[in-house]
Amino acid sequence: MKSHVQVAVIGGGVVGASVLYHLTRAGWNDVVLIERDELTSGSTWHAAGGMHTLNGDPNVAKLQEYTIKLYREIEEASGQSCGIHITAGVDLAATPERMDFLKVACARARYLGLGMEIISVDEAARLFPLMDKRHFVGALYNPLEGHVDPAGVTQAYAKAARNRGADVYRFTRVTALLPRADGSWDVITDKGNLVAEHVVNAGGLWAREVGRFVGLELPVLAMEHQYLITGEIPEVAASPTEMLHVIDFDGEIYMRQEGRGMLIGTYEKAGVPWAERETPWDFANALLQPDLDRIADNLEVGFRHFPALERAGIKRIVNGPFTFAPDGNPVVGPVRGLHNYWVACGVMAGFSQGGGVGLALANWMIDGDPGFDVWAMDVARFGDWATMAYTNAKVRENYARRFRVRFPNEELPAARPLRTTPVYDRLRERGAVFGAAFGLEHALWFAPPGTEPREDVTYRRSNAHGPVGDECRAVRNDVGLLEIATFSKYEVSGAGARAWLDRMLANRLPAEGRLALSPMLNDNGRLIGDFTVANAGRDRYFIFGSGIAEQYHLRWFESHLPPSGVAIRSLRTELLGFAIAGPASRDLLAKLTSADVSSDAFPFLAFREIEVAMLPARVGRISFTGELGYEIWVAADGERVLCDALCAAGADLGLRPFGARALNSLRLEKSFGNWAREYRPIYTPADAGLERFVDVAKPEFIGCAAVLRDRERGPTRRLVTLVVDVNDADAIGDEPVWHDGRVVGWVTSGGFGHCVGRSIALAYVPAPVAGATEGFEVEILGERRGAVRAARPLYDPTGLRMRS
Ligand SMILES: Cc1cc2nc3c(=O)[nH]c(=O)nc-3n(C[C@H](O)[C@H](O)[C@H](O)COP(=O)(O)OP(=O)(O)OC[C@H]3O[C@@H](n4cnc5c(N)ncnc54)[C@H](O)[C@@H]3O)c2cc1C
Repeated sequence: MKSHVQVAVIGGGVVGASVLYHLTRAGWNDVVLIERDELTSGSTWHAAGGMHTLNGDPNVAKLQEYTIKLYREIEEASGQSCGIHITAGVDLAATPERMDFLKVACARARYLGLGMEIISVDEAARLFPLMDKRHFVGALYNPLEGHVDPAGVTQAYAKAARNRGADVYRFTRVTALLPRADGSWDVITDKGNLVAEHVVNAGGLWAREVGRFVGLELPVLAMEHQYLITGEIPEVAASPTEMLHVIDFDGEIYMRQEGRGMLIGTYEKAGVPWAERETPWDFANALLQPDLDRIADNLEVGFRHFPALERAGIKRIVNGPFTFAPDGNPVVGPVRGLHNYWVACGVMAGFSQGGGVGLALANWMIDGDPGFDVWAMDVARFGDWATMAYTNAKVRENYARRFRVRFPNEELPAARPLRTTPVYDRLRERGAVFGAAFGLEHALWFAPPGTEPREDVTYRRSNAHGPVGDECRAVRNDVGLLEIATFSKYEVSGAGARAWLDRMLANRLPAEGRLALSPMLNDNGRLIGDFTVANAGRDRYFIFGSGIAEQYHLRWFESHLPPSGVAIRSLRTELLGFAIAGPASRDLLAKLTSADVSSDAFPFLAFREIEVAMLPARVGRISFTGELGYEIWVAADGERVLCDALCAAGADLGLRPFGARALNSLRLEKSFGNWAREYRPIYTPADAGLERFVDVAKPEFIGCAAVLRDRERGPTRRLVTLVVDVNDADAIGDEPVWHDGRVVGWVTSGGFGHCVGRSIALAYVPAPVAGATEGFEVEILGERRGAVRAARPLYDPTGLRMRS
């Protein structure tokens, strides 16, 4: 065993082996993989090896494509067969709702270049003759589906890495990880110790244990999973070509050919977690007791839909555990607060995703950036609220719903409510329909008195459409009240605060008593944050941003802090508040404060620390709705009093609470972008139309050089506002945009602008077509709907109302 290495990858499943391979491919060769048993001895060895490019997140879908296409490369680099079978696949729909789901997936695949097609039942039956057509209404054809040999793939990664200088230590268990003063790690094993500059937790079934070595409780849990192999099926044996992969969403089963029969796997509704608290160290190359009863319902549907399966009988049943994160996507990246400790775990589809995870992590370790948009699998999307019990509830829910339709307006119920604010009950009394963001309950919209606060799930406009319209009109005409607890809030203080923020943020910092909007960029000049910054004087700044990105931003901030002179603190639970927006919002604020809130004394983008409703408050004059508005922040224990005071004082001003759905409609009318939608780490400020918030003349900031470089070249794409000709379904995001009959871009968000009476989509298109007005189309639920580019925001284009 070496005494000192650059990287120690812990875990020799498909994921750890892929990380090792990608590190060596990028030139880091002083790397070792440490495996407690034989390679693949965790969840990898008994996998069905299936692979496909279907994922709810477009970026993960793209990395799945990368993974599948990588197998030829690692076969060549290692001389080891991966047993590649690219058969293509057919995903079957039994209901119109499922067809909507498939049409959306197909459209998304169009702009990702994944080549999927919607096909008829007849065509599906021609491709997969085992199906009984009577049960289905249509299907999605996916050319990039198939299966590989799990052990072959893992060995190929490892051999190829070894060929490039990596070492693999088998039958060696890591028993502890101890941080060293220089930021590296003592890796303690049962065969001796070594020092590693970086450690990667690719512990799979034991990722939690490897996390606990450093005090980390990772949100992953294993579930038992069963597949069975049928006896010989004459139609399969006689087929001149290999059977296609099939997903029968209604039966909640997947299938592929295995020998002269079929392999059938299921995700049953009452899934069973395995090793809920701790994974036994003596579990290796082992399987679990099969339980056919548990999957009997699924099989019954499967046998009805594919009668030949029932006739074939069952030859073998496999029950094995593998891990999931609460939302089913991998958990990857550097861990906030731990130097050079990386995770690559919770990978539930190792043969579709392992390559992409390895590539992204290797890039991240080597270049400081994953090189792709990996938000959907970033470990930072979870906070400390993602406890073991939360994870347990969510993983079960996710497993049970694996093949169920997920509607765009659907809020999943497990583990809720988890985090609530003091006004949760107040909002509920007003009819709030809640969603959860970063674990926190927040109002999506308010059901009118006498109606049930429940939203119908659909790809089309829901029963929320009417009430949301009323909320929007209340904001535009009178005054609306929105709880803004979901924002992230940070206090930055200290003698070095200004200089540090100047380096972190791309815009000029506001003067004392003022607010400024500022993007944050990475070294490549890509957007990694979009904030409102308040200068509170005396070397204190408040920063407001996207709540879901709190850990993501804190990880970045903290890793760039100087040794002294600056402190940053999250005020997530300490500071809560409301936005009031609309022409009557000034009158409302004036009723609750003795401070002068006239336009002269409290102009647009001013920030004041004043009393509101007897409470010390921090108030910024800003609004994401495009109306005159204020954001009022108070200590959490005052939030309820503030809420009651605003409601009482606003009663005769027409005050109405509004939620996130109305906010979305209002900001679309103003063409305002949103974090995680229009602003993500693949876009530059110029792409996103944020150039005016980037000041290259101020002291050098992170990303400045890249901005200057990009300026010379000019942006390759642009964010545009499209007015779409729709019927009952608006764009929601991820639809392809066509121009002159070609797919040229994609929608980032969409919805109905209730006060302008138009359906709106924000979309990225190539710069050369961004100036066109006509000729656009947006593909919504399988139909190409005409769209016209709006050169200016549809509502109050000059911003007079905001500044009034
Ligand atoms: C029945 C079944 C069917 C499946 N079918 C498919 C499929 O069709 N397609 C697909 O993509 N996926 C499938 N999967 C899922 C797939 O198996 C996983 O996605 C994949 O195995 C995850 O790999 P991993 O490397 O993260 O974890 P693991 O395979 O669990 O590897 C982790 C490794 O780390 C080692 N380790 C842990 N702790 C230590 C330590 N302290 N010191 C040293 N070594 C350590 C372990 O011994 C283990 O070998 C299936 C899984 C099951 C159970």
